[in-house]
Amino acid sequence: MTTNLLGLDAQALEAFVAKIGEKPFRAKQLMRWVHRYRESCFTDMSDLAKTLREKLTEAAVVAAPRVISDGSSEDGTRKWLLDAGNGNAVETVFIPEANRGTLCISTQAGCTLACEFCSTGKQGFNRNLTTAEIVGQLWLANRALAVMSHDERFALGKRVVTNVVLMGMGEPLLNYDNVVPALRLMLDDNAYGLSRRRVTVSTSGIVPLIDRLRDECPVALAVSLHATSDALRDRLMPINRKYPLRELLAACVRYLDRAPRDFITFEYVMLSGVNDGEHHARELAALLAEVPSKVNLIPFNAFPGLEFERSSREVIRRFSDFLNTAGIVTTTRKTRGEDIDAACGQLAGQVQDRTRRLIRMEKVA
Ligand code: SAH
Ligand code: SF4
Repeated sequence: MTTNLLGLDAQALEAFVAKIGEKPFRAKQLMRWVHRYRESCFTDMSDLAKTLREKLTEAAVVAAPRVISDGSSEDGTRKWLLDAGNGNAVETVFIPEANRGTLCISTQAGCTLACEFCSTGKQGFNRNLTTAEIVGQLWLANRALAVMSHDERFALGKRVVTNVVLMGMGEPLLNYDNVVPALRLMLDDNAYGLSRRRVTVSTSGIVPLIDRLRDECPVALAVSLHATSDALRDRLMPINRKYPLRELLAACVRYLDRAPRDFITFEYVMLSGVNDGEHHARELAALLAEVPSKVNLIPFNAFPGLEFERSSREVIRRFSDFLNTAGIVTTTRKTRGEDIDAACGQLAGQVQDRTRRLIRMEKVA
């Protein structure tokens, strides 16, 4: 069986190198070739002994997901549709800004959590992405963008992707075992060398796994809040029935002990007439009084088949002003890449839903 090196963090790569009878320092060398220099051909790894290159050619591959399509928005946002096998596809989005480049990565083909306002949630769920598929998105983007900006392939001074957010398709914490090694690679100096503050996990609030992430691999945390009462959040995000607001916010406070930043980002999608009233702003300020936080308002992005509407610009401005006056730093997310359906919540890829089939099977049983 060949091993895909893209999916091996430092520890796993060392184990692999030992298995093929090589010294531990080879793992570091190999990691640099694979991730820093994005080399997929072992023969071209010029400072490895010829025998090792031959062994690698036998036993391993460096295989990122296949790109199905690659589109650019008028505003410079770029979106790749990637093959996840068996009729599934996931999306990765690159968002260039003046002083940084953010890559938004998917972690699952679909999502089991079925939030009311989310296109991914409406698609159902097929499977978790592997570590190689998660890291492969960063690998591919770095490769494609370096070519696009005519960078020298080896000129690492000019980092194109400066930030990674796990805000694409899927709930990252429900794919914990594959996501954490991917995070470790993003942070590893021999691979992508990003600081913990520049890697963000966005979660709908899986309380026990927020605690685990804090203990095992703390990176910046964003929590999708979207409602100020359990009644509304239960409706918009069914996961709230399992982990209600009070428990979620307590987990956020615990996370801050080890977090690389001294605040939690709360995402709040602005749904006209649903959660955007002045009383909601007041409730939100009260709810977050005990949690060092920043709020990121996300204008709702529409997609076919949904009743929700985006709050008006004026309502969003007022909501934001209220929170800022209450002492909570609040920003409004710029909608990027809408013309190529790359904005938050619009990522749909292609998902062969298995969840409904499972429910049917349960009924039969
Ligand atoms: N599952 C994770 C990460 C992926 S979703 C999570 O829920 O946090 C990334 C962000 O986009 C979340 O805050 C999510 O609530 C938001 N989002 C989902 N659908 C949206 C839509 N239609 N318009 C705007 N934001 C949306
Ligand atoms: Fe899943 Fe996040 Fe979409 Fe909810 S908002 S369905 S958790 S991807």
